[in-house]
Amino acid sequence: MEKLKGIPAAPGISIGSAHLVGKEEFNVAPYKIRLQDVPVQIQLFEDALIKTRKEIVELQKKISKDLGRDEAEIFDAHLLVLEDRILIEEVILQLKKEHFNVAYIFQEVIKKYIRVFSRIEDEYLKERISDINDVGRRVIRNLLGEKGISVQNKKEQFIVVAHDLSPSDTAAMHKNKILGFITDIGSKTSHTAIMAKSLEIPSVVGLEIATSKIKNDDQLIIDGFSGLVILNPDKDTLKIYKKKEEQVKKITKKFISLKSLPAKTTDDKRVRVMANIELPEDIPSVVQHGAEGIGLYRTEYFYMNRTTLPTENEQFEAYKFVAQAISPHPIVIRTLDLGGDKFLSHLEVPREMSPFLGWRAIRFCLAQPDMFKAQLRAILRASKFGKLKLMYPMISGVDELRQANKMLSECKAELRKKHVDFDEELEVGVMIEVPSAAMTADLLAKEADFFSIGTNDLIQYSLAVDRTNEKVAYLYEPAHPAVLRMIKKVIDDGHNAGIWVGMCGEMAGDPCFSLLLLGLGLDEFSMPPAVVPQIKQVVRTFSFADAQNIAIGAMKLSTAKEVEEFTKKFIEKTEFQIL
Ligand code: PEP
Ligand code: MG
Repeated sequence: MEKLKGIPAAPGISIGSAHLVGKEEFNVAPYKIRLQDVPVQIQLFEDALIKTRKEIVELQKKISKDLGRDEAEIFDAHLLVLEDRILIEEVILQLKKEHFNVAYIFQEVIKKYIRVFSRIEDEYLKERISDINDVGRRVIRNLLGEKGISVQNKKEQFIVVAHDLSPSDTAAMHKNKILGFITDIGSKTSHTAIMAKSLEIPSVVGLEIATSKIKNDDQLIIDGFSGLVILNPDKDTLKIYKKKEEQVKKITKKFISLKSLPAKTTDDKRVRVMANIELPEDIPSVVQHGAEGIGLYRTEYFYMNRTTLPTENEQFEAYKFVAQAISPHPIVIRTLDLGGDKFLSHLEVPREMSPFLGWRAIRFCLAQPDMFKAQLRAILRASKFGKLKLMYPMISGVDELRQANKMLSECKAELRKKHVDFDEELEVGVMIEVPSAAMTADLLAKEADFFSIGTNDLIQYSLAVDRTNEKVAYLYEPAHPAVLRMIKKVIDDGHNAGIWVGMCGEMAGDPCFSLLLLGLGLDEFSMPPAVVPQIKQVVRTFSFADAQNIAIGAMKLSTAKEVEEFTKKFIEKTEFQIL
């Protein structure tokens, strides 16, 4: 038995066997593609074949020069496999028939070839297996790109162990097969961790040595509350964690049974407890956990794990679906927030030295008016099917807000001209996640209908701590006095201008900070759906007067540690502590 300490990323206890991903290429997970994406997938396949051919020819030249022509002959056989018309045609045929991602289809065809060749009693043909293997791996690597991560199409449930997972890798995984995530790198508010929370999959990140310590099929316990991973636990430890798993289930069940009660303090102060979603598929979880609407819809996931940009119509259908599904509750749709740690493989975006400080979110959208306006029109068109609100990410000052609003006005004018209905009263809000926005919140409030504080970014930018870097995770402190002062300023500035102020960063879903935020006057808390019942219960257990006193006390303290100890004291004696 060995204990590994990492960073808790998504709560929960998981017990299961390890499955390492990203170490071999014949592990591509299938996902369905749309009929209209088949030609794009064929193109991807052809590009990968051309790239692989180039690689092999170059390798052949080098070996021929270094070791001689005879040694380089092996690559003739590789080129023969690569150019085998029957193999290529079979892949294209299967792609047209099955509609799965081409990397998966190609992998399955290669596996079939290997099976057939290994049954033949012919030494020459048997030797070809290693050629097929080699070429197959090269093509798959080129299809997936260097960042490609794959998950084996396994039947049983397992715990994914990886060096790193991108948010889109995480989003593409089969929820019901995966018991947990463990990664060497990453931190609490990386989008991979946020995605794991959304999927309700216990996760520990930033373990640094997980992939070198853990082997396939090792038994693992993940404690997503404390960030502990136990490798090959002994009987007693297993018993303790099975009991804890049961306890967690029991309390979660109790909270869920109270989910329909309003988020109201004992002295009748009403706030809204909402859910964050990444995909329309998350809606059932929002309803199941009793959220009073959606406070953040991260639309960028709709652009991921596909080969083309979504059209305006497709987006309209998706937003309309979400608006109707959640009606009469409101939903805040955030416009595209790409960049940082979220990328699209098919968009040509140059690599940057500091992507979180670079061409991200609203900056990226303002520079791509066609793409941005397609999304704005889709949101406007969907707005008459429910209670939609729109907000922009990463606004750094009034200028950017005006530029975005100018494009929105142009979209409105285009729709009016075409007699397309939309909600003329659509609320337009600003995410406050850049310190300059927090410091000019009084100015922004004059031109916005609401604020939503994005603490995940606000913390990283104000404390100069990369939110995805496990090495500096100890400095990532939501309760740092600098952060608390900004939050207070934003709430006060918003209220002075007569607009409501919400929070959709992870801090809003941390019970340790609920009372402090409530006391500072936050109107809306938005969080991963699974945490909603718990936060509602925290709000319902205390009075607003208590919360205000806690806020006054916390604001006088000098360090994040002192604030955390102070606020924790109030929930320590309650059962909220355990989750
Ligand atoms: C935030 O920054 O707090 C936020 C909610 O946005 P994201 O996590 O998607 O960057
Ligand atoms: Mg953000």
